[in-house]
Amino acid sequence: MNSNKYRILIVEDDSNICSFVKTVLEASDYQVITAGTCQQGLMMAASHVPDLIILDLGLPDGDGLELITAVRKSSGVPILVLSARTMEQDKVKALDLGANDYVTKPFGTAELVARVRVALRSRRNSANASGGKYQLDDLQIDYDRRTVTVSGSEVKLTQTEYNILA
Ligand code: CA
Repeated sequence: MNSNKYRILIVEDDSNICSFVKTVLEASDYQVITAGTCQQGLMMAASHVPDLIILDLGLPDGDGLELITAVRKSSGVPILVLSARTMEQDKVKALDLGANDYVTKPFGTAELVARVRVALRSRRNSANASGGKYQLDDLQIDYDRRTVTVSGSEVKLTQTEYNILA
């Protein structure tokens, strides 16, 4: 298993949709973990620290909106809501609670993957703004120190080169 893959948590009780989304994302080279209830979703969000959560709102043990609220108390992980609820007020509520995006069912796979990419990009940009590190194989970017190391040794870059890479 490549541990540098983005890890995506799907919280969805409909097993057909869940395995469909999982297949689509794995084909795009993401690592996917799944949960079928709010409770399990919260546990897995805490223990597996995903890079993105794809969330259904109608879950057997509660409303996905509650999960958004609970996750947001401790984490800025991007949350993409995937719901059959098409009312504008449902979307507004989810976004106000801290969801990053909202996709209504039925959805196109290309659109879903594109929105996943955007959400992951926004996470990377916020990591860039607030500090932190980015790791890809032997390459590490330290956003606080603005340094780049490969296999532990620092690479000398101009500011422009650094910005392009970051
Ligand atoms: Ca559901």
